[in-house]
Amino acid sequence: MKRRRVVAGNWKMNLNSLEANDLVQDLLSLKHESARIILGVPFVYIASLARLTNGSNIEIAAQNCHHEQKGAYTGEISVEMLKSIGTDYVILGHSERREYFNEDDTLILQKMQLAHEAGLKVIYCCGEPLSVREAGSQNEFVQNQLAQSLLKLSAEEMKNTIVAYEPIWAIGTGKTATADQAQSMHQHIRQLISAQFGQEIADQSSILYGGSVKPANAEELFSKDDVDGGLVGGASLKAELFGPIIEANL
Ligand code: PEP
Repeated sequence: MKRRRVVAGNWKMNLNSLEANDLVQDLLSLKHESARIILGVPFVYIASLARLTNGSNIEIAAQNCHHEQKGAYTGEISVEMLKSIGTDYVILGHSERREYFNEDDTLILQKMQLAHEAGLKVIYCCGEPLSVREAGSQNEFVQNQLAQSLLKLSAEEMKNTIVAYEPIWAIGTGKTATADQAQSMHQHIRQLISAQFGQEIADQSSILYGGSVKPANAEELFSKDDVDGGLVGGASLKAELFGPIIEANL
């Protein structure tokens, strides 16, 4: 089985309801039926956007979930709530959640397992900070992240997980990893998945690159063997930018 190419957007805390609706309508009108698109949207838009995109090639992701099943956690959102309103995916391990909300790999693993249990699929993010890249130890850093979370999943859970390699120094900075840097890390990640889960699962796992992907660099990044698409922040907020990125991955 050939692995699937994906372009995912991460809206973060942006767009009001009207803007969100307009953007999705614009993306639907692009009619790239063969593309697989996932939109990571704020919780409050999930239900309506899941209805709007029902039957299309756009799937909806939450940007977080709580690490417990239910209970006295005022203001939090559970995996079951997400599943019950039509959420397909949840993005976990994003560097902003690691940094601003102190999420570590143990917590991320807990969330991943809970999400899978509820029938959600996961986009799992990993990636090194600038100091690690400058010291040349990015492979060890990412290997360590994976060892504590992704590689502890069951094979079945891994099959329902997309990996996003997002070097922190390239997120929202305009600084992109070169296509060769991305390829080299993606190959490393695929080898780690293969060592844990076997070659077949590794070959079928989609590994996305994230970090200042834009129309000008998407094609080169996506042309690399182990880069199966992108996780896109800023450029996913405008159809005129996101559209060409989707096209670059067809
Ligand atoms: C992200 O937040 O996942 C991301 C990659 O952002 P940007 O594309 O804006 O760098």
